[in-house]
Amino acid sequence: MIFDTHCHGYWRGLRDRREEVRRNMLAAGVVRSIQIGADYASSLQALELARDWGEHTWCTAGIHPTDCQECAPGSIPGWMEKLEETARGNRDKVVGIGETGLDYYHLVPGKEEEGKRVQREFFAAQAELARSLDLALVIHTRDAAADMLALMRTLPIGRAVIHCYSQDPAFARTLMALPGEIYFSFSGVLTYKNARLVQQTARELPLDRILLETDAPFLPPQAVRNRVSVNEPAFTRHILDFLQTLRDEPTGEVEQAVWDNSNRAFRIPA
Ligand SMILES: [Zn+2]
Repeated sequence: MIFDTHCHGYWRGLRDRREEVRRNMLAAGVVRSIQIGADYASSLQALELARDWGEHTWCTAGIHPTDCQECAPGSIPGWMEKLEETARGNRDKVVGIGETGLDYYHLVPGKEEEGKRVQREFFAAQAELARSLDLALVIHTRDAAADMLALMRTLPIGRAVIHCYSQDPAFARTLMALPGEIYFSFSGVLTYKNARLVQQTARELPLDRILLETDAPFLPPQAVRNRVSVNEPAFTRHILDFLQTLRDEPTGEVEQAVWDNSNRAFRIPA
C-alpha cells in the first residue's frame, strides 16, 4: 500500500478531472493521500477534497513562504486564527500545518530582506500552531538551509516533515539530531537522472524517516516525464519503485516501512 503524503489535488489540471485522478490513484495502489494547503483559500479547497475523497484522503492547512512575503507581519495573528479554526473544526481530516517554511529562491525583487523576514515570522507562527495543536508541521525549504536550521533549533518543533527533500545526507543528519520527530519526504525529483545527491540521501537515511510524495501537479517522475506534464498521486508508485532500487532492504520491507512512517508522521490510524 502506498501513501502520497504531499499533493495539491485542488490545482488546475487535477481538480477538473478529480474523479479520474482518484480512480487512477486507487488503481495504482496509492490508497492514501494528503492534500496540502498553500494559503488559506487553498487550505479550504484541500479540506473539501479530503471530505470528497473520504477514507482515502486527509489535508493540511497552512501558508506557503512564497504566498506570505507580501503580507504585513501584523496580519499573522489573524491568519493563524483562521488556520487554527479550520484545524480545530475538522480534527478528523486536518493532520498537519503547512506547507510553510523558507523559500529564498522566490523572493520579490527589491524586497528581498523584507520578504525573508516575513517568511521567517510566518514559519515561526505556524511551527508554534502545529505544536499547540499536536499536528505535523509540513516544511518547504529552498535556498535557505542556514536560516532554516537556525529556526528549527529555536522553535518548538514536534513532528515535522521536510517536503521534497533535496539536500545532502549531512543536513538531514543535523536535523535528525534536533529534539523533534523529523521525517524526509522524497518526490519525483528522486528519479531524475541528475539527482545524484538526493539519491545518495535516500540511500543513506534510516528507513524509518522516509516518506514519499508526488507534489502533484508539479514534478512528474522520470518514468512518465516525457508523456505527461501534470503529475498525479498515482505516480507515487514510480517513486516507490525507484526508492526500492536504491535501498538494500527487501522490496516489501521498504514499501511497508514507508507506509508505516507516513501514518505515524501524521498520526493517522493504520
Ligand atoms: Zn507542495
